[in-house]
Amino acid sequence: MEIPQIELKQISQKEELPFYELEKDLRTGKAVILKNSLRKIHPVAVGKRLRCKINVNLGVSGERINLKKEIKKLKAALEYGADTLMDLSLGRRAGEIRKALIKECFVPFGTVPIYSITQEKTAGLSRSKILDEIERQALEGVDFMTLHCGLRKKHLEYARRRICPIVSRGGAIIAEHISKTGRENPFYEYFEDILKIVKKYSITVSLGDGLRPGACADANDKAQYSELYELGKLRKKCLDYGVFAMIEGPGHVPINLIEENVKKAEEICDGAPLYFLGPLTTDRAAGRDHISAAIGASLAGFHGVSLLCAVTPSEHLGIPDINDIKEAAAVFKIAAESVNLAKGFNSEREKNKEISEARKSFDWEKQFSLALDGKTAKRKYKLLNKNKDKFCSMCGKDFCAMRKFSECAGVK
Ligand code: SF4
Repeated sequence: MEIPQIELKQISQKEELPFYELEKDLRTGKAVILKNSLRKIHPVAVGKRLRCKINVNLGVSGERINLKKEIKKLKAALEYGADTLMDLSLGRRAGEIRKALIKECFVPFGTVPIYSITQEKTAGLSRSKILDEIERQALEGVDFMTLHCGLRKKHLEYARRRICPIVSRGGAIIAEHISKTGRENPFYEYFEDILKIVKKYSITVSLGDGLRPGACADANDKAQYSELYELGKLRKKCLDYGVFAMIEGPGHVPINLIEENVKKAEEICDGAPLYFLGPLTTDRAAGRDHISAAIGASLAGFHGVSLLCAVTPSEHLGIPDINDIKEAAAVFKIAAESVNLAKGFNSEREKNKEISEARKSFDWEKQFSLALDGKTAKRKYKLLNKNKDKFCSMCGKDFCAMRKFSECAGVK
């Protein structure tokens, strides 16, 4: 894990964490840096004492493929503030899509190699297929990889007891392999071989949760925690090998179980950075799952999750379009900002103060420039108001609370 001092200094400044503290977190695996040594991007650091960040998923399924559209989605995700991107493409053209996306991507880029290995239905999960695919993607510059290594043969009986046994694509592929061959998870079996490859390129391993709960009733159950214990052990191996590792998390978790879920992951994985999908706080928000997920993500972030994986409004329904990607990124940016403000970062505190001052002085342009999504704020404002007045159409001139009080109290 050789990171140039200059990059570390930049990260330390940006993240408002003293240099020696950052070094300590990196050394102990409590923070990771996402950057393949072959890529020319600004590295992004992830860890509990650093800013909470968001990831946006892209990618095509075997059913619907349009490379141009996918690149537009990537640009939209970046415009809306994605800190990292992942390509989850499936199917015959997954490799072509991945190469095209990574070229356009100036933030860390992640993949799930098992998707490409099994692009043909009949393909098996042999040692050479797994290692070759990982090395291929490493050479293309992939910065972090989700590997479903913790799902063991013995865990499948716990999954069978659930309402929704397995909702992770990677988890389902591994479970199918185990059931058909009677053998152990090959990503578990060949884990040390995998580490030798990713280490060469400084790739961060994202230890995937193939048994993440996909229904609130399944949250924090034996299946999830049994896999988590395996992830904790595998993460130790990563540290021994000098490979950065993050731990992935659920899924669907009701609000009252989120804190326990996060604390347990922290405890079992000894403070490794946590990367959660949502979690969705209800199973009943289809069509607006991004909101349910952002509620869960805010809580999870506050309790210690470092990277929030955005969920789109089309979750559970179909492949997201560009508007879904924009909406998901925008909503998750709010979740991350809320976490960072609560964590006490100076920059967020200052910007929140500044926008409130601008609100008080009716400086509309300044408000737009400080808003997380200033473009949308400006468009809405223009639509709802004729002129830039010292009030807006919400309460009108005579009842504008800001104006009324500033006039009667002489506040400027
Ligand atoms: S009119 Fe109401 S909503 Fe608009 S600026 Fe004044 S207090 Fe705020």
